[in-house]
Amino acid sequence: MVLFKRANDITDYIKKQKEEGKTIGFVPTMGALHEGHFSLLEQAKKETSFTVCSIFINPTQFNNPDDFKKYPVTIEKDIESLIQHECDALFFPPKEEIYPPSYRPMQYDLGALETVLEGHYRPGHFQGVCQVVDRLLQFIEPTILYLGQKDYQQCQVIQRLLDLMGRTNISLRISPTVREEDGLAMSSRNLRLNEAQRKIAPSLFQELSRSKKALASTPLSQVKTEAAQNLSEKGFKVDYFEIADARTLLPVTDSSQPSIALVAAYLDDIRLIDNLPLN
Ligand code: AMP
Repeated sequence: MVLFKRANDITDYIKKQKEEGKTIGFVPTMGALHEGHFSLLEQAKKETSFTVCSIFINPTQFNNPDDFKKYPVTIEKDIESLIQHECDALFFPPKEEIYPPSYRPMQYDLGALETVLEGHYRPGHFQGVCQVVDRLLQFIEPTILYLGQKDYQQCQVIQRLLDLMGRTNISLRISPTVREEDGLAMSSRNLRLNEAQRKIAPSLFQELSRSKKALASTPLSQVKTEAAQNLSEKGFKVDYFEIADARTLLPVTDSSQPSIALVAAYLDDIRLIDNLPLN
């Protein structure tokens, strides 16, 4: 695996790979890598001939400075794992490489995606996500971009970014959420859970699954309220438990249309998200 810290260097290197006829699969991450990240990489290895992973904890997407400070960093282990998984290149830039002093962020028009669910509870988050992904795509120009369904709204936002920026040459692949045996969606933030919190955390997925079943016989609004209540009783501070249109992410009143259940909740100061498509 070749490691790059400078944007110009990785851009030049990838250009050469493309001249040799290779297709580029790109997996952007913030590190503290786990099986969820590796599933994206494995998918990329199946579908493209040169795989690139990036590790950059993007400060502009953290609306909570404390969350940024506490974000887990395991770079040496990450590099070892990427070598084991036979990733071809790692882009691990310092902050100035993504945001040099001359950088001026643009305002991305994300429509309602910016104001619902994560957008509502994390103001500015998706502008930050677009800033970093836009920069990374400029440097790497992948053939296929790999994202995880775990961050469902982020996937919708990035599809919108690709449309907005006219990047019709980049395909987006969304991979299913990888879970622990007890159902907890893998996440770098899980590293911050203590033993007691780790035991409670799978309730998020349990409530999503329970709600999916309950919808067959219970009114949708009652399903949502009960799920949020159950989570609160278990010790979560719930931001939202919503059933939304799978495309617009606006709340639905009738779950017969393609919809998805999404949840965001805190255990102490650790914010966890998960989702489950309903039909
Ligand atoms: P992150 O490092 O959390 O920014 O995630 C980098 C990429 O990995 C994003 O596209 C995430 O959606 C994806 N990802 C994170 N957790 C999982 C998971 N449990 N299963 C599948 N993909 C995931």
